[in-house]
Amino acid sequence: MLPGLGFPVRNLFCIGRNYAEHARELKNEIPTQPVVFTKPTGALTSGGEPIRLPAITENAHHEVEVVVAIGSKLNGSGLTPEDCIRAIAGIAVGIDVTARDLQDVAKKKGLPWTLAKGLASFAPVSDFIPKSEVGALDRLQLELQVNGETRQSGSTSDMLFPIPALIAYLAENFGLDQGDLIFTGTPSGVGPLKAGDELLARVTSGDGKHHRILDISVVDAG
Ligand code: MG
Repeated sequence: MLPGLGFPVRNLFCIGRNYAEHARELKNEIPTQPVVFTKPTGALTSGGEPIRLPAITENAHHEVEVVVAIGSKLNGSGLTPEDCIRAIAGIAVGIDVTARDLQDVAKKKGLPWTLAKGLASFAPVSDFIPKSEVGALDRLQLELQVNGETRQSGSTSDMLFPIPALIAYLAENFGLDQGDLIFTGTPSGVGPLKAGDELLARVTSGDGKHHRILDISVVDAG
């Protein structure tokens, strides 16, 4: 069950390179269409479970992201922003944990990112702010502290593809339904995680009145 929403998770959609500064820091081109990948649902954690670093990677990065939960079925073309906003159940903060070393190898070889992005515990999410309290979707604030130091902060106003546009793109191409989650991309400032790190991520509603926190640690998977 998704915390704060009361229905089970379906798909984990993720968007890459949705903030120009982050695309630049990894020396990627600015995309002209949303970059979409998925994670297996086994990557999802909630309730403060730690991120577990397996031996297969030596360079796992944090990517703090706004996570959108879909609450109702949506598909077809020509969807308006209002149609897309109506389908939202709530928003949370999550970390798109990324094994950057494995991703770099996959990119060079033209192979999928699934191993780099989908390892167990690599998709932690906070509780969800219900849609009625989310406020303006282009005014959500996002922040990540690692060991008390701010590493990433951003606003959805800086997204290349705003949340309704992402929903429209996913609905048209894949179909969306209740329980689908969308990791909407990370602002700049990504960096490595190590065992013992303490992460504090926060998303704040468009009117500044509501927030949710993800407070988790990083451990070796052993
Ligand atoms: Mg990401």
